[in-house]
Amino acid sequence: MSKSKSSETVKVVVRCRPMNEKERDAKFGRVVAVDVKLGQILVRNPKEASSSDHPKVFTFDSVYDWNSKQIDLYDETFRPLVDSVLLGFNGTIFAYGQTGTGKTYTMEGVRNDIERRGVIPNSFEHIFTHISRSQNQQYLVRASYLEIYQEEIKDLLSKDQTRRLELRERPDTGVYVKDLSSFVTKSVREIEHVMNVGNQNRSVGATNMNEHSSRSHAIFVITVECSELDVDGENHIRVGKLNLVDLAGSERQTKTGAQGERLKEATKINLSLSALGNVISALVDGRSSHIPYRDSKLTRLLQDSLGGNARTVMVANIGPASYNVEETLTTLRYSNRAKNIKNKPRINEDPKDALLREFQEEIARLKEQLEKRSGKKKKRRQRKRAGEGSDGEDLEDGETEDDDEEGDDKGDWREQQEKLERERKAIMEDHSLVAEEKVLLLKEKEKKMEDLKKERDAGEMLAAKVKAMESKLLVGGKNIVDHTNEQQKMLEMRRQEIAEQKRREREMQQQMDSRDEETLELKETYSSLQQEVDIKTKKLKKLFAKLQAVKAEIHDIQEAHINERQELEQTQNELTRDLKLKHLIIENFIPLEEKNKIVNRAYFDEEDEYWKTRPITRIEDDHQMMSRPLSAVGYRRPLSHHAHTAMMMRPDMRYKAENIMVLDMDLPTRTTKEYQEPVIAPKVAAALESALRDEDEIQVDASGLHSSLGATLPTGASLKKPKSGRPRTGKKSSTPASPFSPSSPGSPLYPQCRGLVPK
Ligand code: ADP
Ligand code: MG
Repeated sequence: MSKSKSSETVKVVVRCRPMNEKERDAKFGRVVAVDVKLGQILVRNPKEASSSDHPKVFTFDSVYDWNSKQIDLYDETFRPLVDSVLLGFNGTIFAYGQTGTGKTYTMEGVRNDIERRGVIPNSFEHIFTHISRSQNQQYLVRASYLEIYQEEIKDLLSKDQTRRLELRERPDTGVYVKDLSSFVTKSVREIEHVMNVGNQNRSVGATNMNEHSSRSHAIFVITVECSELDVDGENHIRVGKLNLVDLAGSERQTKTGAQGERLKEATKINLSLSALGNVISALVDGRSSHIPYRDSKLTRLLQDSLGGNARTVMVANIGPASYNVEETLTTLRYSNRAKNIKNKPRINEDPKDALLREFQEEIARLKEQLEKRSGKKKKRRQRKRAGEGSDGEDLEDGETEDDDEEGDDKGDWREQQEKLERERKAIMEDHSLVAEEKVLLLKEKEKKMEDLKKERDAGEMLAAKVKAMESKLLVGGKNIVDHTNEQQKMLEMRRQEIAEQKRREREMQQQMDSRDEETLELKETYSSLQQEVDIKTKKLKKLFAKLQAVKAEIHDIQEAHINERQELEQTQNELTRDLKLKHLIIENFIPLEEKNKIVNRAYFDEEDEYWKTRPITRIEDDHQMMSRPLSAVGYRRPLSHHAHTAMMMRPDMRYKAENIMVLDMDLPTRTTKEYQEPVIAPKVAAALESALRDEDEIQVDASGLHSSLGATLPTGASLKKPKSGRPRTGKKSSTPASPFSPSSPGSPLYPQCRGLVPK
């Protein structure tokens, strides 16, 4: 259920920072004038000759010059927004502008300086003061802190700073960051600690903090849940969410000469910011039905803040010096468009995901458990009082600390413990008992004591849990009568009144100005022709000046548009070049077949905006693989349907019972030929055959040797070579110098060189 409210526009305020020392030293001129009363910013462009007479004028909801104080901004612009968050509206504060113009100063400011602290710390103070003054309400405040850098979301409060989070969408609650941590905070100190931890994590890993912060968006989120009983006694919960956004620097990121990774990085850096610009344009255009929220993480996440269910304030920060004039004008034009965005804020009542409801339910459940325990105990106590005394069983009853009976409880517990101790001693001293019996009894007593302790601990833990949970729920009204508080409250109210009055004055002034021009001619009656000429000339001059201003504005916008287009074209050219290189590599070095396979597997994930590849095997698509084999029923052994059919078709007795299927081997096709002997000439064949003959079959003719040595061996005895373990190879060693070599060379029967004799 939510109370709907009519639409309202995004509030845009402009803040101009003071000249810094460098600018003063370099003697830069001031080109920005701020008319706080009228809510106007006047900019002279030193490059244009006519600009000193006709400065460019921009009107906003309010404007703040270099003398503005943080607290003034807060009271006039941010306090009403935070107040509505406390009522259950969503609220967003954006800080937009070039790097170094005071975005972080406006959002965070100087932390430990009350005068100079920014919106975020001021809102902490505001929220917790509000809660402390509330009555009959329960609050739960939690905080998250995230950063978007190069289109990646980082949780600044998480322990693992390398993890990247993803956006998810639910129809009921909209876009959210999955797994973003949030911390329940009970006081200003605690929420400040959360912010400090986040800030420390933000600077970790950044080689140059200034550069990093100028390229990343930081979003601090405070969720305030408030529960209150309505007149019917029903509990209602309202949830307000406050987004505090310190955007990346709006200056153009240079990407000249960048290639590959660097180019991709450069195009990503300001993607969120240009997407934000496109969303704003589409929203105020009125003609476009499609709002490109999905183009970037930032716009998706803050979709509600732009044209949705939220109140939004945009702070445009500018610098006063002449060298920044182009950026200043761009910022003013950008935020000027944002003025026309219409939001439809409403109170978020009883949303499904309210954490407070979960807390309340959990506390009620735990309390019920506690109640049960104390109920049992009370009964026991009553029994004791009635004179029944206590037997051993009673000791198993739990022990808890009720607020009113705490002292009683403690006494009770001690009493029981003492009693057990006494009993234990009595057993020890009882000599009539056998030793084993004694041990048994003692053990029993000890167990009872332990049980008693366990029970007590469990009860204590339960009570502590309830206390811890309850302490997270904040209730006010504690020091409502505090005198200083009263005074402070009065002061704040006064300040708010003044802020409101200022705002009304400014509006009236703006209205009067515009009406002046319209009614100028109506009320004038001319006394003479000359007077008419004079007045009309004056009017003409005024209108002419206006015309010139509008023309100049058109010219400027056209120029800015052309610049933007050129830049886009340049980026496109570079990306195309990059793409061509990738094409070249793919076409020439990746087989077409492989490429097609990858192309078929690839799909675009809309949610993550990434190309992904499906796994190679897709079992879910393949029903044959998915379905389990059917069993054939009615057999002695389990048999699959498939085996059954196979058996029927080709009965194979051997495997019938084993449920084994016989498949023919799937032989591969042959890739070799049969060996065919070469044809050899008969002479060569004979020589080969004799050469390959086994050594054992070879006899050595030692007759020549015999005669030369002088008959030491019996005549006719032939020398046989001993069998050797040498593997037989086709080659036979030839040793012409051997003493066994035949004395008669040129013998036709045997090969000369070997001197071997065939058998
Ligand atoms: P950004 O976050 O836009 O890059 P910073 O907030 O870091 O810029 O501001 C740059 C410097 O200017 C800081 O030193 C800051 O203290 C100073 N500064 C910015 N705005 C103001 C202001 N309104 N009054 C005084 N000092 C300011
Ligand atoms: Mg900054």
